Amino acid sequence: IKQQAGSGCAFYNEQIREYNRRDMELGRQGMQALREGQFQIYVQPKVDIQRGDRLSGGEVLARWLHPQRGMVPPGEFIPLFEENGMIVDLDRAMFRQSCQWLRARMDRGEPPVSLAVNVSRLSLLREDFVEYYAAVKRQFAIPDGVVELEFTESMALVGEEMFLDLAHSIQQAGFICTMDDFGTGYSSLNLLKNLPINVLKLDIMFFRKSIDKRRERIVVRNIIQMAKELDIRVVAEGVEAEESLEFLRAAGCDIAQGYLFAKPMPLEQFERLVEEKKDG
Ligand code: C2E
Ligand code: CA
Ligand code: CA
Ligand code: CA
Repeated sequence: IKQQAGSGCAFYNEQIREYNRRDMELGRQGMQALREGQFQIYVQPKVDIQRGDRLSGGEVLARWLHPQRGMVPPGEFIPLFEENGMIVDLDRAMFRQSCQWLRARMDRGEPPVSLAVNVSRLSLLREDFVEYYAAVKRQFAIPDGVVELEFTESMALVGEEMFLDLAHSIQQAGFICTMDDFGTGYSSLNLLKNLPINVLKLDIMFFRKSIDKRRERIVVRNIIQMAKELDIRVVAEGVEAEESLEFLRAAGCDIAQGYLFAKPMPLEQFERLVEEKKDG
């Protein structure tokens, strides 16, 4: 038995080493891949569920079109890039591409579309964070209130005081400030109490298998109610079931995002969707 356990362990270690090797390779390739334009923007539509399920904008999500491996999902490269610091460059590239697209639309006389861009904790910690995002926004002459910056709750780790300052500065610069993945991790209610955020995004986990549907609904309904009273808009993400949608609508949730409506799609496809909705 002892011998078997030993060899099983060796096999396991071998597997881990193999994963690590692949990971490190991906991590190392990141910078060059970024320069070569291998990262693309996908956009997942967001829908205004209080106003006839109108398209209200989209969330920008990074996709790596790797020449050998094909499409690499963020779950595989974001953690690596957070470790080696490349996430800052990726965040900036995604934001820049978003602004570029918005500028091109406006130059054609089309109205801007609300886009939410993800900002990692490392990006937030950069001393020139606000300066950089404000400068790019200015460079492409993006109007105020069009770009939403999504911060995860890990921003709590930045320190509340520092985040308070940052939130004020980015709102001052004309960005909408969103707390992503609300309800996971760190002291969310305490953050709500103190932080000047505009939007709260209910984490996808709220709509995954709950042990008790009744309890889940009480919690979600009350978060929505509380947010409303604080003048914070609520977006529900990961909505897959018609049943969840009807509940959220009744509970007063403003915006929903999820496979029920659409999966993240290439920018060109999102643009077509925007055109269709405009006429419809
Ligand atoms: P997130 O910001 O919480 O984004 C939502 C994720 O949920 C996306 O996964 C989206 O495709 C997925 N999703 C949306 N609706 C549904 C649904 O109905 N069912 C299910 N099962 N999933 C749904 P994705 O695109 O794989 O991104 C994963 C995470 O990677 C994101 O989570 C975000 O934290 C990170 N990420 C993606 N792009 C960027 C980026 O440019 N910068 C940073 N810092 N992080 C990014
Ligand atoms: Ca997000
Ligand atoms: Ca999220
Ligand atoms: Ca998430």
